Amino acid sequence: MVKLKIDNIEVEVAPDTSILDAARTVQINIPTLCKHPDVDPSAGCGMCIVKVGGRIMRSCCTPVSEGMEVITNDEELKEIRKMVLKLILSNHPNDCLNCSRSNQCELQDITAELGIDQNEIVKLVSQEPKDDTTGAIVLDPSKCIVCGRCVNICQNVQNVWALSYLRRGFVTKITGANDTKLANSPCIKCGQCVAHCPTGAITDYDNTRRVSALLNNKKNITVVQIAPAVRVALGEEFGFDFGSNLTGKIYAALRRLGFAKVFDTNFAADLTIIEEASEFVERFTKNDNIPMFTSCCPAWVDYVEKYYPENLANLSSCKSPHQMLGAIAKTYWAEKAGVDASKVKVVSVMPCTAKKWEIGRDETMNSSGYKDVDEVITTRELAKMIKAAGIDFKHLKEEEADSPLGEYSGAGTIFGVTGGVMTAALRTAYFYITGEELGKLNFEAIEGLKAVKAAEIDIKGTKVRIAVVNGVGNVAPVMEAINKAKSEGSEPPYHFIEVMACPGGCIAGGGQPRVMGATFDKPWGINNEIRKLRSKGLYNEDVEAQNRLSHKNESIKKLYADYLGKAGGEKAHHLLHTKYRERDLYKK
Ligand code: SF4
Ligand code: SF4
Ligand code: SF4
Repeated sequence: MVKLKIDNIEVEVAPDTSILDAARTVQINIPTLCKHPDVDPSAGCGMCIVKVGGRIMRSCCTPVSEGMEVITNDEELKEIRKMVLKLILSNHPNDCLNCSRSNQCELQDITAELGIDQNEIVKLVSQEPKDDTTGAIVLDPSKCIVCGRCVNICQNVQNVWALSYLRRGFVTKITGANDTKLANSPCIKCGQCVAHCPTGAITDYDNTRRVSALLNNKKNITVVQIAPAVRVALGEEFGFDFGSNLTGKIYAALRRLGFAKVFDTNFAADLTIIEEASEFVERFTKNDNIPMFTSCCPAWVDYVEKYYPENLANLSSCKSPHQMLGAIAKTYWAEKAGVDASKVKVVSVMPCTAKKWEIGRDETMNSSGYKDVDEVITTRELAKMIKAAGIDFKHLKEEEADSPLGEYSGAGTIFGVTGGVMTAALRTAYFYITGEELGKLNFEAIEGLKAVKAAEIDIKGTKVRIAVVNGVGNVAPVMEAINKAKSEGSEPPYHFIEVMACPGGCIAGGGQPRVMGATFDKPWGINNEIRKLRSKGLYNEDVEAQNRLSHKNESIKKLYADYLGKAGGEKAHHLLHTKYRERDLYKK
């Protein structure tokens, strides 16, 4: 441990701790706009200056040393910080009232905290147009403060390299890599840049107006579904603790917004497990395109299509759960309810920006004869709609989802967290292989936030090697090992692999609420503590569920008995499976 003094307070921290992090251990909050717990420091914004032995240094990238004496807040430092901030503000529009980040903006907060009420520096704001080409995320150069978080997360955490800096000095800008529009870049629409941007410069593409238009057209029967991860995060927008599971309140709010039926993607997560576990058992038995990858994360699918097209056959052919629910709502449910399927419109509330892009994939869209899902909004956008409608969410009475597409097992609910899809699939695959239920339903080895989690599961003497990749940025070594074994003709290192693009899984997806407030127990932005709390919210629901197995979901059993026939059979395959294709990393 290293001992030092910060503002005359004795501090003891591990070597290599930055001064900025060391200060937080004694409740001193040094302002910063570029440092985020998920990324290495970039020393980009210049706000975190401190004095060490009289010299001014950036605290985010200066490690502590024995006997160091640090001053974080004297008059000179305050004045320099104010000047740095005024320079940043001089090329930022005064657009707060019309900005989607208003009230949830680090730049706005820090401006208020430092007491900047006037700025004598002449404004010079970028006139570059917005890039909304992906239909999932929007980059607005006029609001960019070039802090570099998005580039850092996209390159160094996600390993996608879709964003980069262009030019130097005052005219530096953030752009799609190779100065392309984002739709033509390698971007996989994961939205991690959105989740980490401190300002309104990268946001999700706003679909709330389109959803309102669907609801206002009285000829439509507009139904809605919520993804697993939405239920343990939406409450943060309304003052609930991290990880509070508010499923019943969310159903009630959706009815008040005017949705004709409230369904749950957890139902379709159970359906995905039936299809995916059957597919795995068949492929494993025949040694056909093993390892098999999960396919419920569209950003991961996009990544394989762009970076590993030689592995497309390894992806499960299952659609993602919300696409499955869309196809079933427009066929089975419409028939059962006696309504015209052409009038059924499906809205998905997702923690995910990539799903906005996914619903436009040619390969996924029309198996029911209609577009599977009509619109996707994020958890954040749902919060916006609830607030705009004047609904007192906090005090809403809990309601139930509509049957049958609202019934789900504990296995369905843990889809939202890294390791959850694999756990749910193994529970059912074990039953399919042995005809017996697993004694212990959790696999500790694949829970938690480690980059790659691996285990060998003994299924009555058959060894199944599994891996769970937490964040697409951790997949490269796994792919290398798989492709090396393939080229050498040896046994694959794994048989079944789950990959979720966002670190932590969907609970920390690009569309989840922003974590607000620069307090010490809740630092700015998503971090691992919050990932754990949201995950716990889902695991608790699983543990408390009466049924924790997808194959025991009675509504799913009835769906197969009355309509789909056999898992993986012709009808199920037509409605619930999809195809993949190689995509260009860069489009001309
Ligand atoms: S887009 Fe946002 S995260 Fe990226 S550099 Fe600009 S302000 Fe920072
Ligand atoms: S959405 Fe994901 S891949 Fe695309 S620019 Fe942002 S971080 Fe990179
Ligand atoms: S991990 Fe979840 S939220 Fe993130 S891109 Fe994949 S499906 Fe979307």
